[in-house]
Amino acid sequence: MNIERAAVVGAGVMGAGIAAHIANAGIPVVLLDIVPDNAANRNQIAEQAIAKMLAAQPSPLMHPNNVRLISPGNIEDDLSRLAEADWIVEAVLEDPDIKRNLYRQLEAVCRSDALISSNTSTLPLKVLTLQQSESFKRRFMITHFFNPPRYMRLLELIAPVDIAPDLFDAVAKFADLRLGKGCVTCKDTPGFIANRIGTFWIQTALLEAIANNLTVEECDAAMALFGIPKTGVFGLLDLVGLDLMPHVLSGFKQSLPAKDRLRAIGAVPPLLRAMIEKGYTGRKGLGGFYRLKPDADTKIKEAVDLQTGDYRVSEKFRIDGVSHRPEDLKKFLSGGETLNRYAWRVWSDTLSYAASLIPEIADDPLAIDTAMRLGYNWRYGPFELLDRLGVDWFVERLQEKHQPIPYLLADRQSLYRTDKQGLLECKNEERRYRPIHRPEGMLSLGDIKRRTAPLLKNASASLWDIGDGIVCLEFHSKMNTLDPDSLSLTQQSIGVVRDNFDGMVIHNEAEHFSAGANLTLLAPALLRQDWDTVARIVELGQQTYQALKYAPFPVVGAPSGLALGGGCEILLHCDAVQAHAELYTGLVETGVGLVPGWGGCKELLRRWLSLPNRPGGPMPAISQAFETIALAKTSKSALLAKELLYLSEHDGITMNKDRLLADAKARALAMIADYRPPEPYVYYLPGASARAALDIAVRNLALSGKATAYDREIAGQLAFVLSGGDTDSLDPLSEQDMLNLERQAFLHLVKQPGTAARLEHMLKTGKPLRN
Ligand code: NAD
Repeated sequence: MNIERAAVVGAGVMGAGIAAHIANAGIPVVLLDIVPDNAANRNQIAEQAIAKMLAAQPSPLMHPNNVRLISPGNIEDDLSRLAEADWIVEAVLEDPDIKRNLYRQLEAVCRSDALISSNTSTLPLKVLTLQQSESFKRRFMITHFFNPPRYMRLLELIAPVDIAPDLFDAVAKFADLRLGKGCVTCKDTPGFIANRIGTFWIQTALLEAIANNLTVEECDAAMALFGIPKTGVFGLLDLVGLDLMPHVLSGFKQSLPAKDRLRAIGAVPPLLRAMIEKGYTGRKGLGGFYRLKPDADTKIKEAVDLQTGDYRVSEKFRIDGVSHRPEDLKKFLSGGETLNRYAWRVWSDTLSYAASLIPEIADDPLAIDTAMRLGYNWRYGPFELLDRLGVDWFVERLQEKHQPIPYLLADRQSLYRTDKQGLLECKNEERRYRPIHRPEGMLSLGDIKRRTAPLLKNASASLWDIGDGIVCLEFHSKMNTLDPDSLSLTQQSIGVVRDNFDGMVIHNEAEHFSAGANLTLLAPALLRQDWDTVARIVELGQQTYQALKYAPFPVVGAPSGLALGGGCEILLHCDAVQAHAELYTGLVETGVGLVPGWGGCKELLRRWLSLPNRPGGPMPAISQAFETIALAKTSKSALLAKELLYLSEHDGITMNKDRLLADAKARALAMIADYRPPEPYVYYLPGASARAALDIAVRNLALSGKATAYDREIAGQLAFVLSGGDTDSLDPLSEQDMLNLERQAFLHLVKQPGTAARLEHMLKTGKPLRN
């Protein structure tokens, strides 16, 4: 069975988000909710949910047009429309009676070969299927999405043993390939995997913070050391809503076995209860553990004193000298200060709890690690963290502190290991190692790195043989910024591939493909006013990217996350891009007072000029490229990157990040047979007349306050490049001519105090300055 049509019942927070994401997969979806009392518009709830999707930021939609795939309705008039759906997701209130009643209605109207699933986060399958027919149980399961459904990659799947296998497979495949989810099959236990461990961790962190008289800032900073998102535990509670905790805890209290350790710590602290009663439910309410001071003229961040419940000015808390490195973390966990002891209590309890839940909630550590990484955005799952710390070290400490030692850890052996061939294995409930099999169509650079040595390597980049004649160029500097090391390794790689391989993929498994040129490296040269060095860096980038473009083999970019500035420019020079759907790319150089200097102007302009059915003359194309670069437009998805021409029409999009490398490799392989490097492009540009037109536009922006004086200066240089400099429409300009113009404009701007101020501000704060 293929899923070609879907429906979502319940258009609240989750239902709307799930419907939007199904639409992101290009599938039509019916969205139903109840008819409100005395409603003039019977579809009011679903329609309002759709209107909200268009306004929400970050958007649940990868393209605003996707909303056209969502068709609103209500459960009184439109239930019969569900007969068309292959998959119906229920996302109504967390009430078993309401859900079970609805299922009976659904069973009557839905096709017998359609799958019905619930998005419940707390109700067990056995409760939801109570008193339902046998045939219903074969077509029903839980598909537990995390909020927000577009961005959180975890999907927990819980199915009855006798579910029709083809229905289960169809939904799992659809969720993986089309929705891009990391599917984790869970057992039917309370809170499934991620929320069971997540709640234990949150509650432990909260109780220990109060008991040890620590501040929320200290605790959040301590948690962040362990690869937890910066929100820490208190910021996370503010985000999800403090009022959720009492419900979740009481749910666990009712459903968990009597001896479960989460039950023992499950009482709601009086501070939390008092905050909720006063309306301090988090970001959606008056504020939470953090808030912005009310009625203040400027933004003042405040934090709750965990002892008194009063707000005070929040103070940034930094833990100096502790990196993410295992040695540092172990030292931190062993320290004698209150914060060290706090971190030990939270992590020793959480990691031990996770270890004690195998096989109750999962058969092996991999499922739990995946769930915590994808559902809570932890950099390492609990067992990956344990392996970093060393199981032996951890058990030793548990012993010293007279804390119980879980069976899974008592052998003091790591949770993961590599076999003789470098294949990854994972310890199971019986403490035996089993190989980890990647699903077909998933290729992990991490696996390849464990098995082989790099073909080339320096501090910023490496080249890997990924099989079948294809190599992968990997950047691995901080935020994957590009520097002379990454550029020179790219050049060397071209030589290696030319002689020994058939094609190249540019990819890495970090959160972000590349944040662009490394400005920190530029800074000393700027301070010294060493313009020769700056010019050399610009030239090195230009030559490298041109060499990639004209290499005698296909080059496929495979980015995910941010690809900014120089990171965007390298993609513009690839033969093809296979992008992860979550691609945020753009030429953002104007933000630091510069213009793209590594061929970004040249390539983006060429794309606009080469558009088929382009209106007459080069001016519309110049204006489009000008506006995109001057405003530093950044795509909010791969789909939107196509509209900005950062991606071309033929570039591919992969929804599941784990499939990106395999898809990019397949793309490169498909291009080898009749590969020819592109023909050099010849530009005919109008010169001064185009600049005059662009100048009028910028002047108007300045007059209406939308552009600063220095924006105008940068725009002038950008116009100089995009109009072809001192040329006229009859003079052909080569790509090298365009690169020379870029370099000239770049070197002019870099010497200006306005640019120096923007660069300095960006380096200090990470944010652009509008001077
Ligand atoms: P919500 O309160 O935002 O939305 C629930 C919607 O269901 C409302 O629009 C309501 O009008 C509608 N509804 C109630 N009865 C209905 C019926 N009989 N038929 C059709 N619609 C009906 O709730 P939510 O946060 O979207 O949660 C929905 C489900 O998702 C719950 O099972 C919840 O446990 C689960 N969940 C929530 C989150 C989260 O973060 N909010 C995360 C994962 C799972």
